[in-house]
Amino acid sequence: MRKLSLVLVCGFLVSWGFLAHKTLQQLAIYPLPTDLGLFFYANQDYIVQQSIRPDVRRKDDKTEDSKHYLDMDANVFGPNYRTDIPHDFKQAVAKYSFDSLRKEGLVPWEVNRVYSRLVNAFKNEMRDSVLFYAADLGHYVADAHVPLHTTKNHDGQLTNQKGMHVLWESLVPEAQLKNYTLYYPKVPEYIAKPQDFIFQILFESHAMLPDMFKAETEVRKALGEDKSFKMVERYGKMQRYYTDEFIQAFGDKLGTSIPNRMIQSSHRVTSFWYSAWKDAGSPTWVTKDISADKKAAFESEKVQWKSNTLISTGKLISLHK
Ligand SMILES: [Zn+2]
Repeated sequence: MRKLSLVLVCGFLVSWGFLAHKTLQQLAIYPLPTDLGLFFYANQDYIVQQSIRPDVRRKDDKTEDSKHYLDMDANVFGPNYRTDIPHDFKQAVAKYSFDSLRKEGLVPWEVNRVYSRLVNAFKNEMRDSVLFYAADLGHYVADAHVPLHTTKNHDGQLTNQKGMHVLWESLVPEAQLKNYTLYYPKVPEYIAKPQDFIFQILFESHAMLPDMFKAETEVRKALGEDKSFKMVERYGKMQRYYTDEFIQAFGDKLGTSIPNRMIQSSHRVTSFWYSAWKDAGSPTWVTKDISADKKAAFESEKVQWKSNTLISTGKLISLHK
């Protein structure tokens, strides 16, 4: 068990928590055009369960870490990082060196790389590869939506707010998911330039940081340090954790900010999948061998999604034991 918890703890430090990743990846299936949606729905368990694979992979693959973030305010990018970082990978490597990028993060380029693989897999009717790359792509796209994945202060450690990472992306969603509205009336959008779009997403995330840090400070002031933190022994060491009361108060303070970002991540995952399929020429092989029963089940589950009853009807896979 110790090994498993270590994996979980590592996972928390690099992305949306497992609950949010699985939830948003399931939600990304419903808005797809019917043909493509059916293919993903027929493989829904895989798509949902494997949404966390890139985090799990970190345990054995040391090159994996940097694919989940871009610390755009790191010194190497200079004060004008918003305009200075080339979107093109070769240009970015030429400007900063690969070692610097590997240190400060590779997520926008990993998204682009996996996107190309997905387009290629769609084109060549490589079913297994489509599922593999779609699951991975969803993870990296979702990670780019997490504000703390865009800053060197990625855990609040530079501002005496250590623990912010797991707080924002795991603890609050875990405490409040049941109150979230999981339906959003948006159709997938075609992304003409994935490499530019992923940077747009990262800048949106980055712009959310000041409010998050401010909310942490305000809730801490309101509750006092004693009610904000508890000391827990982990691996023989006492560590400071936010209390349940703090987690609820922080989530409430941010209002719809976290659920909205999670839902927006989901919508972008849909759009990336949809665009890859379009770029491959909208192949029709995706609906081969899908039974009438599966089609009917998909339609009825879409009704549950639209009426926001996926949780109450037990259809949200991330909550299954
Ligand atoms: Zn991640």
